[in-house]
Amino acid sequence: MMTAELPSFISELLSSEEAEWRQYARCRDEPKDTFFPNAGASHNTARRLCNVCAVQSECLNYALEHGIKFGVWGGKSERERRAVLRSRRQVMEAQSA
Ligand code: SF4
Repeated sequence: MMTAELPSFISELLSSEEAEWRQYARCRDEPKDTFFPNAGASHNTARRLCNVCAVQSECLNYALEHGIKFGVWGGKSERERRAVLRSRRQVMEAQSA
């Protein structure tokens, strides 16, 4: 399926063939602003949708692996994604020590 055929903001953002999971995204028909709220606006609507999304972990991992700096991905804000990365690094460091 071509990315352009999907009516999803996430498909507009992702052009890579590696992100096939996006066709299962719960946010496919949601407005882009829900996942890219203005500064200070609530992320709660996005989080609620992400928490029932079948591809939450794929989405979060995509954002982490690609260093995406904006928006809610996999139910996590940019600040929360940085915390996840720190946590993962600490686990890897502990395992290699
Ligand atoms: S986890 Fe959230 S942002 Fe990611 S695809 Fe699912 S609904 Fe969309």
